[in-house]
Amino acid sequence: MIRYALACGAGHDFEGWFGGSDDFDVQSARGLVSCPACGSPEVRKQIMAPAVVTSKGKAETATGPSREMMLEMASQVRRHVEDNFDNVGDAFAREARAIHEGRSEERGIYGEATLREARELLEDGVPVAPLPQVPPDRQDLN
Ligand SMILES: [Zn+2]
Repeated sequence: MIRYALACGAGHDFEGWFGGSDDFDVQSARGLVSCPACGSPEVRKQIMAPAVVTSKGKAETATGPSREMMLEMASQVRRHVEDNFDNVGDAFAREARAIHEGRSEERGIYGEATLREARELLEDGVPVAPLPQVPPDRQDLN
């Protein structure tokens, strides 16, 4: 369901719920959408941006999932990995391969790998995934 803010020719504001983005256009063209205040079939969509409320309680407009939310999720994943996984730094590719081949203790590890190293690991069936990037200057944004 999609909620649209609608307005009639007389300036009445109201809301309409539609099954999909095309439903309003179809129903409106058939004269099926009318103003609940005056009954006018002359109804149009109001331009509105999707809004989200951040943890600060301030409404912000956004074009997708809020940037704050994405950053928060990314930093949570990262924190979990950093707390529970072993940092092997730039030895990551070698160590991941060693664990995969049973030559090293089996554990979760993280570290740095080049794109080429990561691709080679994946090609050899070693499960690796990129860590979400958290901009280092995040604190400065507040
Ligand atoms: Zn009206």
